[in-house]
Amino acid sequence: MSAITMRELTKVYPGGVRALDALDLEIADGEFFALLGPSGCGKTTLLRTIAGLEVASGGSVRIGERDVTNLPPGRRDVAMVFQDYALFPHMTVRDNIAYPLRIKKVDRRSRAGKAGETADELGLAGLLERRPGQLSGGQQQRVALARAMACHPQVFLLDEPLSNLDARLRLEARTFLKRLQRELGVTTVFVTHDQAEALALADRIAVMEGGRIRQVGTPTEVFRRPANTFVAGFIGSTPMNLIAARVHGEELAVARARLPLPEDARDRVTDGERLVYGVRPEYLDYSASPVDGALTGEVVVVENLGSVSLVSLDVPADDPDAADAPDGGAGPDGDAGPDGGDGPGAGLAAGDTGAGAGRTSVQVVVPEGSEPEPGDTGWVVPRPGRSLLYRDGNLVTAAPPAGVPAPRAGVAARS
Ligand code: ATP
Repeated sequence: MSAITMRELTKVYPGGVRALDALDLEIADGEFFALLGPSGCGKTTLLRTIAGLEVASGGSVRIGERDVTNLPPGRRDVAMVFQDYALFPHMTVRDNIAYPLRIKKVDRRSRAGKAGETADELGLAGLLERRPGQLSGGQQQRVALARAMACHPQVFLLDEPLSNLDARLRLEARTFLKRLQRELGVTTVFVTHDQAEALALADRIAVMEGGRIRQVGTPTEVFRRPANTFVAGFIGSTPMNLIAARVHGEELAVARARLPLPEDARDRVTDGERLVYGVRPEYLDYSASPVDGALTGEVVVVENLGSVSLVSLDVPADDPDAADAPDGGAGPDGDAGPDGGDGPGAGLAAGDTGAGAGRTSVQVVVPEGSEPEPGDTGWVVPRPGRSLLYRDGNLVTAAPPAGVPAPRAGVAARS
């Protein structure tokens, strides 16, 4: 068993930076797990603390049955691949791969044999006598992976493993890495700030902010049901639309439109309550002619994304009843509460989106061939079951607590 369990894990650097803040997390045996978050959120610190390269200031780390919190890196049975691969430039590929075995005092013949075998598995067979300087970025990455694999660790730790590769090679390396991890079945934790990479590779993702975990879930869960507005804004190639809303009986008043209340939120909201309505641009349908129950506004920007376009509409921000409220109504940011303004796209304010005062911007993905022109009036309708509601920045429907492995089968996609 090589599950990794962290309890109240804390790292305070000299000078007082609290890079990990009493973090609880469980990574299952054999899982491909991503640590994702903006720069400075503590991803690398967490990876290095699992590796033993940083000493925890508090809490514990267990790998399998062993408490490794106070063990040095060499006794944790983990292999780390660094962002820059950290290959020895004066050594051949064979010697680089065999190096950890040399440290473990494996005899020369077995070392060479094992290095050759691992190189074979990673398509490096013809390159064994070259030095790192004579290899491409992708080949160097494979050597670094081969070096990590050669000593059969219980856990792989990968720090931004693809960031040194160009866009095309990155895609290739991504597929390769995913296949390799599946075949080896070794518990693997990788750090990335690229949400697309995390969604594509990981079995589960922990989204971090300020040394804490904001959500743990499968790619489907974090994409479809972000637990809070921070994750909603961080995950997805375009952030989720977050718009002030108000409950009206069985309906929701959003940007002067009336939408059905998301079914799973019905029992959890009160009439008249002001909330934030969230819907992804991918889950809105655009119409060039009037549609009942649609948000309507003026097309201000059309961005070509290849097979689809991203259309931004300028829509009225407030529902008519909210405008009568004593405090001037639900401002675009007003319902997000203490958590609402804490992330990219969290609680869209008119000023952030380029929309005018009293208006907000709504983005919708439109298929090739049906793009509108700036200046057109457009109608957007949310797809059934794809809308979310946030109160004080948190999803109104219950999310599984952070750190608890989510069920593998039948990923919840209800919304
Ligand atoms: P990035 O994506 O930019 O690499 P990260 O999420 O990996 O960021 P960390 O490198 O873990 O973040 O840093 C977390 C916090 O700890 C940051 O505020 C950083 O400035 C601080 N920090 C990291 N290393 C040290 C150190 N050796 N001494 C003091 N502070 C540090």
